[in-house]
Amino acid sequence: MHKLTLKELSAQLQARKISATELATLFLDRIEASDLNAFLHVDRALTLAQAQAADARLAGNEAGPLTGIPIAHKDIFVTRNWRTTAGSRMLQDYVSPFDATVVEQFNAAGTVTLGKLNCDEFAMGSSNENSFYGPVKNPWDKTAIPGGSSGGSAAAVAARLAPAATATDTGGSIRQPASLCGVTGIKPTYGSVSRYGMIAFASSLDQGGPIAKTAEDCGLLLNAMTGFDERDSTSLQRPKEDFTRSLNQSLQGLRIGVPKEFFGAGLAADVEAAVRGALAEFEKLGATLVDISLPKTELSIPVYYVIAPAEASSNLSRFDGVRYGHRAADYKDLADMYKKSRAEGFGDEVKRRILVGSYVLSHGYYDAYYLQAQKIRRLIAQDFQSALAGPDRQCDVIMGPVSPTVAWDLGDKTDDPVANYLADIFTLSTSLAGLPGMSIPCGFGQGEKNGKRPVGLQIIGNYFDEARLLNVAHQFQQATDWHLREPA
Ligand code: GLN
Repeated sequence: MHKLTLKELSAQLQARKISATELATLFLDRIEASDLNAFLHVDRALTLAQAQAADARLAGNEAGPLTGIPIAHKDIFVTRNWRTTAGSRMLQDYVSPFDATVVEQFNAAGTVTLGKLNCDEFAMGSSNENSFYGPVKNPWDKTAIPGGSSGGSAAAVAARLAPAATATDTGGSIRQPASLCGVTGIKPTYGSVSRYGMIAFASSLDQGGPIAKTAEDCGLLLNAMTGFDERDSTSLQRPKEDFTRSLNQSLQGLRIGVPKEFFGAGLAADVEAAVRGALAEFEKLGATLVDISLPKTELSIPVYYVIAPAEASSNLSRFDGVRYGHRAADYKDLADMYKKSRAEGFGDEVKRRILVGSYVLSHGYYDAYYLQAQKIRRLIAQDFQSALAGPDRQCDVIMGPVSPTVAWDLGDKTDDPVANYLADIFTLSTSLAGLPGMSIPCGFGQGEKNGKRPVGLQIIGNYFDEARLLNVAHQFQQATDWHLREPA
């Protein structure tokens, strides 16, 4: 049962072959037996109460496609009933007085919450090693990182501890862990998923999305989690859409842009081989490959690592020891209380980003760094528009690697923040442009250590082209079985 997709589980629930309570119990047992550190908070009684409510809806024929489906939430979405820590000591005992919009939407759809998932502190990281609660292990090889910041989400789905999970992506945090754990994830167009109750990292970039086994499941999850929310000032006012509406369209004539900047010297040979293999598969499905250029790709690292810390330094000023979370036990006066509470509550990477962010926003440096970064951000977005839009558009979607290498060893880059930042090279530009992007499993790296290490293919589309991305991914998943492979 734990191997089934959401689509299949839903059919089992509707046919009364299994109850929501039995299904939740099965996954809770798997979570309890797991040693991956993917979950931070589990509460059996709360989960089973939700499952019973779902069973009542199923019995009363009031069920939707997700009623009774177990799901786990990244611990960056606030929940009224489970603690919310954002992977930080700062919020160690924090219980939110309300549910994030995304959580509300899933509750309304009748999903059953299995618990909260580990992540990098305030979603800052690419390896999940910045969590105050310890790293998550990659289920394919427990000596490897799962990716980050949504490492718990990707590892939980890969290890079949949950059939689906929520995640967030500011600069790659859905796509990169999905890639390194061999599961499917999509970051929709910026503004599609409400940020209300999603603990803020960099507000102009943060975007929620799902991680699941298949593209079809991601479509079902997006149907539930997108939509206008007046409580989020950047939420898009668009009619509800069915993201699964074009899954079965043929890929005949699809033009796939292959950016040369995604296949340069920094790309590991084994990742390139798996990605090229996937591109060849798409040609068999009727698509044509078009060489394109996204010349500003390289600049996405410095631009992102100015803008994201700048926004983070502002967002994180709310953690002052007064209103939320950790407060130091001993202090002389108010200023000392702020200082000590923040010094104790935040980890090294978060402090580094607050410092960088405060620096680039300060008088005299604002024009040199922050403003400059904003200008180049616009140029990065224009690179994509000249490939994907307008009368001279070259392609319908763009494909390339998600991560330049397979998952690295736990501990390998912990002393070198810049090495971590460089690994974000292929995901940051999509985020800076606000475009939808996804990752699907497409093979494994060479050189097995204590297990295989998965490779993901990135598929990027123009604004609001999620249904097309899911169609492209679904057709690939109908023709291949990478997405069905499971860790030992
Ligand atoms: N790895 C990137 C960072 O550390 C992206 C994180 C994210 O998308 N939340 O900022």
